Amino acid sequence: MASVSAMLIDGQAVEAQGGGVIDIENPADRSVIAQVPRGGDADVDRAVRAAAKAFESWRTVPALQRGRLLLTIADLVEAETEALARTVALETGNAIRTQARPEVRGTVDVIRYFGGVAGETKGETVPLGEHVLCYTRREPIGVVGGIVPWNAPVVLGTLKIAMSVAAGNTLVLKAAEDAPLGLLRVAQICARHLPPGVINLLTGYGEEAGAALARHPLVRKLSFTGSTEVGRLIMHAAADRIVPVSLELGGKSPAIVFPDANDDKTVDGVITGMRFTRQGQSCTAGSRLFLHRSIFDSFLDTLTAKLRTLKIGDPLDETTDMGSIINRKQFDRVCSYIEDGLRQPGRVLLGGLPPKAGPLAQGYFVEPTVFADVRNDWRIAREEIFGPVIVAIPWEDEADAVRMANDSHYGLAAYVWTNHLGKALRTAHAIESGWVQVNQGLGQFPGQSYGGYKQSGIGREYSLEGMLDSFTQRKCVTVNLM
Ligand code: NAD
Repeated sequence: MASVSAMLIDGQAVEAQGGGVIDIENPADRSVIAQVPRGGDADVDRAVRAAAKAFESWRTVPALQRGRLLLTIADLVEAETEALARTVALETGNAIRTQARPEVRGTVDVIRYFGGVAGETKGETVPLGEHVLCYTRREPIGVVGGIVPWNAPVVLGTLKIAMSVAAGNTLVLKAAEDAPLGLLRVAQICARHLPPGVINLLTGYGEEAGAALARHPLVRKLSFTGSTEVGRLIMHAAADRIVPVSLELGGKSPAIVFPDANDDKTVDGVITGMRFTRQGQSCTAGSRLFLHRSIFDSFLDTLTAKLRTLKIGDPLDETTDMGSIINRKQFDRVCSYIEDGLRQPGRVLLGGLPPKAGPLAQGYFVEPTVFADVRNDWRIAREEIFGPVIVAIPWEDEADAVRMANDSHYGLAAYVWTNHLGKALRTAHAIESGWVQVNQGLGQFPGQSYGGYKQSGIGREYSLEGMLDSFTQRKCVTVNLM
């Protein structure tokens, strides 16, 4: 029987009041590896009340002390890197070498970053004259309701923990139902060093625990990372109670390659930017590849040759490059997009529908799939597939490439590949995305203000400015000195 991991409420390890549990599956072989409580309304209420109570004293803890606590937590999480990476690989299907271990290292970086900048939650003075002292304070908001997805579950959840702690808020965080185990471990580490109720971690389904958290009257701020569809519901819930909301949502990010960048470095960067080694399950995946017509075929020849060398299989095997899709639902969804692409008049250069027999059929494995001669108005070019599927679209005129790149309701990330400085920066400035990378395809680093344009989100996280804007509120105090 799989072990049951408890939720964290008010510093205590607890079961769901309703008694239900959710099976956590290893998507690489579909075995049940653990169970977590199926949190509901009553658990959300208990956690939010605990967070509201804890806020009364937590808000007065000096910022530097909050930062020091985060630095201690970072050391402890770092000491558990291997165990955490293994847990993440097991629950997500992400390969340990290429994804799970780097995710845990990135998590430690995030905690350290916010531990370091906690003291920067400072205000300003306003020069109203010698007889008036006018100053602003950056005050915490109160109980934050955080909700995170499964694709990078530990770093995305810990980001909300670190920003809340650094800013002096308390947090009720709902983990993703598919991958809560690594985050539960981080929360347990936090609980050893933070007062009870400052960080609470719930497990449960979105429509139950997530929705209850979004509408709870004592939650003063919502911070959501996930799909645009659910983001819309969260924004409605925030509107009903007029609470601030940050939304980190989906994407269908363009990668524009100019003719001079037809080289191995760019192909490698496109593969990294598409997050093939996370099975394409990344909000920032550069999944629309705009290739100049003059290099279209030769670039794709190199791309497919390199993708063929990726080793797909057991996430715990150190030689594996690419693991499995998270669950049956997402696997079926990715397959339905591939089927849709196969019905179009483009070419499939690599991949396609997953094998129905053999070792890969034991789990939710999908091979890297490359569609060529795609039109930007096809469904596979417009909707977020969240799988290892890239679509290649030819262009001839720079303005046309930018127009197609911007012809999307998303605007999260973008990639520009050229050594021509003018073209690179012109394009970077013209693209409607919150983050443009030139000649690289890396993931987010703490310190960058990260967030989306258009329906990819509202607000910025990951940085000091993001934390100040999204996790504090500004109070102005005016004192008559006469
Ligand atoms: P999702 O929106 O289905 O779920 C995200 C979280 O919301 C989960 O914890 C889920 O339980 C919860 N949820 C679902 N329905 C809810 C409801 N009605 N009320 C409250 N909570 C609810 O997304 P997913 O499938 O878990 O993750 C993939 C999506 O997340 C993709 O669209 C991806 O682009 C996006 N994402 C965005 C970022 C970013 O930083 N912009 C990062 C990672 C993932």
